[in-house]
Amino acid sequence: MLRLASQGASLALSSNSLCNSHIASLACSGLRLWSAAFTTTSNSVPEKLHVCVVGSGPAGFYTVDRLLKRYGDRVHVSILDRLPTPFGLVRSGVAPDHQDTKNVTNQFSSIAADPRVSFLGNVLVGRDVDVNELRALHHAVVLAYGAESDRRLGIPGEDVVPGGGVFSAREFVWWYNGHPDARHLHIDLSKVRSVAVCGIGNVALDCARTLLAPPSRFVHTDLAAHALTQLMGDHQTGGGSAVREVHLVARRGPVQAACTPKELKELLTDCGVSARTAAPDQLTVSEADSAEMKATRLKRRVFELVSKAVADASAADAAAGAAGGSSPQRRRDLFFQFYRNPVEVLRGPDGAVTGLRVERTVVRPDGPGGTSVAVGSGMFDTIPCEMVLKSIGYKSLPVQGVAFDCRRGIIPNVAGRVLQQADASASSPTSASTSGSAEGGPDEVAAANVGLYVVGWLKRGPTGIIGTNLVDAEETVDSLAGDAEALLRAGEMSHGSAGPPGAAGLEALLRQRGVRVVGWRRWRLLDEHELAAGRAAGRVREKVTEVREMLRVCGFAVE
Ligand code: NAP
Repeated sequence: MLRLASQGASLALSSNSLCNSHIASLACSGLRLWSAAFTTTSNSVPEKLHVCVVGSGPAGFYTVDRLLKRYGDRVHVSILDRLPTPFGLVRSGVAPDHQDTKNVTNQFSSIAADPRVSFLGNVLVGRDVDVNELRALHHAVVLAYGAESDRRLGIPGEDVVPGGGVFSAREFVWWYNGHPDARHLHIDLSKVRSVAVCGIGNVALDCARTLLAPPSRFVHTDLAAHALTQLMGDHQTGGGSAVREVHLVARRGPVQAACTPKELKELLTDCGVSARTAAPDQLTVSEADSAEMKATRLKRRVFELVSKAVADASAADAAAGAAGGSSPQRRRDLFFQFYRNPVEVLRGPDGAVTGLRVERTVVRPDGPGGTSVAVGSGMFDTIPCEMVLKSIGYKSLPVQGVAFDCRRGIIPNVAGRVLQQADASASSPTSASTSGSAEGGPDEVAAANVGLYVVGWLKRGPTGIIGTNLVDAEETVDSLAGDAEALLRAGEMSHGSAGPPGAAGLEALLRQRGVRVVGWRRWRLLDEHELAAGRAAGRVREKVTEVREMLRVCGFAVE
């Protein structure tokens, strides 16, 4: 329970959490921050503000954008990425058949090419430089490194064993999008007929679409070449994907599905799939469901789409049967497995996946505030499959020296201001709070790390579309702006009138450490290379998927 500092209130500062010299000197000066005066005059700070943004995905770039718009020539931003490539989730998360969504990279590229911005790719925080060093070199650091891990089901058979066959959706998405960390994932679609996807959010739909749609849908996209070969086969080995059915396993019903109608419609109508339900009663609606659909148009729309697709598929089966056709044109099947909770991944003697055991559930309003939850019924089924994808949500990872809420998988924060380590365990504050205040006792005050901020999935959890980060970045930059004058003053106290060295100092440090930093011009070499290879193959882009090869194309000598 915390009362969060908001504009006009003083904020408790504890010197043990202030971990670089200018920040410490700020604490010593006993300044009372967040006064209304600072927040309202923050646009008129005289000196240049040096900000480091860690992560060059949408949250990172929107943060840079907001900073540039707010401070004009009075800001310089270093934007870091652990990979030689920018754009985070836009490059390795957005589905290849959603190229329009990727157009946002044009805007991000203009931002990165701005003289007030230094892109530093191939820099891993924690290996090449640490957060305290970044803080010492800049007035402020904004953590925007996203969610690069996964929630766990916590069921037997889930973990990677020699037989493989179980992947998080993130890994699978990284694999088909050519992320270097998933390049060598052991996926062989020529041996997989049936896939169980746990979860029914939009990521689950992306996975299902990739597995079920005709491969021709991806030929001209930037789907990684190794994934395209698996989907289509090739002249030498033949092969291609053997996947004929995908089961979307949802622990609740169609009315509670997390996916959105537009994405569901695309899967049901554009990809040549036949939609089925695991049992006829799965589309029966309760009174509570009806009320939910009445209240929320999107939920009603999802239900209608599922019902219509299932009815259309069974009518098509009946018509084909009546016409005496033994098998209608071979389509691929999408099974909705509603009210099914995964309880075990089944494996054969060789460790290969043979099925997913699920428990039938009923949905009850037993959650907080009467929200619906899935309750086990004691009845079990087995879904035969050779591969299981866990699409139950991404999770962020901690970085050394910064508080982390392991349960929620976020950095505890108040409107983007990172809370101190000691307070973090007590927090469930909530970055989601846009008002800058949260519930709590009147005497409790959350202490924030002055000069350390967070944005994006790392701040609020893995929800929302790319555009959600725009609003999120605005909130974090507002918080930073509220502190800017104090940060500038602290920088001056520890570094003299020039303030901290910012990107120039960071580049010098990395050079001294022998880090092969991929600046914007080097990335453009790789970008041009990929685009040219794509043009030659009649594709949008042919991605380079190994870091070593990326560095070679970027102009580094690679043994
Ligand atoms: P999500 O929308 O949160 O969906 C997670 C799914 O996993 C839900 O069906 C959830 O079921 C289920 N789940 C969670 N924990 C579970 C457990 N322990 N056991 C069984 N099932 C469990 O997450 P996401 O699909 O990863 O998407 C993340 C965000 O990215 C979303 O906001 C999504 O809209 C966005 N996104 C958008 C697009 C697009 O616009 N095209 C594409 C991809 C992603 P319950 O509902 O029962 O908890």
